[in-house]
Amino acid sequence: MSVLTDKFGRPITDLRISITDRCNYKCIYCRTGNDGAIYGDLPFADYLRMARVMVGLGVKKIRVTGGEPLLRKGVVEFVRELAKLQTVDRGPLDIAITTNGHLLAEMAQPLKNAGLTRATISMDAVDPERFAKITRVPNGFDNVLGGVRASREAGLWPVKVNCVLMRGFNEDQIVPFGKFAREEGVIVRFIEFMPLEEERVWSPDVVVPMDEILQRMCEYRPLVEIPHGRSETARRYCFEDGIGEIGIIAPVSHPFCGHCSRIRITSDGKIRTCLFSIWDHDLYGQMRRGASNEELADFIRGAVQKKEERHHIGEPDFVPASRTMVHIGG
Ligand code: SAM
Repeated sequence: MSVLTDKFGRPITDLRISITDRCNYKCIYCRTGNDGAIYGDLPFADYLRMARVMVGLGVKKIRVTGGEPLLRKGVVEFVRELAKLQTVDRGPLDIAITTNGHLLAEMAQPLKNAGLTRATISMDAVDPERFAKITRVPNGFDNVLGGVRASREAGLWPVKVNCVLMRGFNEDQIVPFGKFAREEGVIVRFIEFMPLEEERVWSPDVVVPMDEILQRMCEYRPLVEIPHGRSETARRYCFEDGIGEIGIIAPVSHPFCGHCSRIRITSDGKIRTCLFSIWDHDLYGQMRRGASNEELADFIRGAVQKKEERHHIGEPDFVPASRTMVHIGG
């Protein structure tokens, strides 16, 4: 069976499945604060079937996301079922989760036992008050910190902490996050803010670009670049004494679309071939119509052929994506 490759020759090996577009946080750069879920979700058995077909086409890594994936009852069992799948090379699947960490302290060990490989936890400030302002949830910081620590203790590795920086809100957290990476033994990754929010607040001025993050961090302590794989989204650095790793994901100032290996399934079963797609492909619709696995595989191959070459953030012809981040699955 030929492995999924798009028309630009990019192998598609990385699948993200959103299992809900509900979220218990209302981060100011992501959501309006008033709107909830829009698209609903599917039984886990349907995501599992989609995943099985995609793994048969060459997917090697699955990230479970949302919305907030830990809100969905049955997520541990879902991970256990995913972990039974084998890649086309007969190896284990790499299974990750992206979560705000609010419910993770209790769930890290069960998830690890079920077969989760690693965890990425979103955290946009290390100062509890700032954290509450950004998430619009009081007293969440301790829960998330507990989730970060529980993930490490459970042996999930690596534990990555993702921070979206926005000028005027949290760019002063850069150095505190450097210290956090060193003290907590986690990889902190700064993500440039992308125009994927519900409230259309994005402008180039709000983005804190990679070069500025690096400069500020180096003023705290010198960094040494770590070589990274071609399709890795993050530029990686460690502090010169070898303690603490940080990464920078810079889709705005240093786009990496040429190495994109990703495809997404939304909570309502649509394929999205790019975060910035202006349409999606109704995989669940095919299942509802009674498509066989071979027909689903053909549909997926067809969708992958339409994968966009690159995003157009900041260009005059930029057209906003047809869904915002929380409804796609980050
Ligand atoms: N609820 C989970 C979480 O908080 O990680 C998963 C979903 S959330 C949408 C996934 C990631 O997308 C988070 O790290 C979040 O910070 C990031 N994100 C949301 N909106 C973004 C934007 N406009 N630009 C860059 N990253 C964004």
